[in-house]
Amino acid sequence: MQRNEIPDAVTCPNCGWRAGDAVTSAHHTSTGAVRYVHCVCGLRLVLLGETLIGTAGAPDAAMAG
Ligand SMILES: [Zn+2]
Repeated sequence: MQRNEIPDAVTCPNCGWRAGDAVTSAHHTSTGAVRYVHCVCGLRLVLLGETLIGTAGAPDAAMAG
């Protein structure tokens, strides 16, 4: 398996899942590497370097109905 640079301490604010398990994409910018993680709960996590800087989308539960 390919390892990534996200520490185990970075977890989803919604469900507590470890973000390092599923980085979907990464983009290198002038301020560092921006990574997008699609969490198991449906939330998208945005990380800059090793820091969670925000979220996007919504958990799957919010789409019910
Ligand atoms: Zn989650």
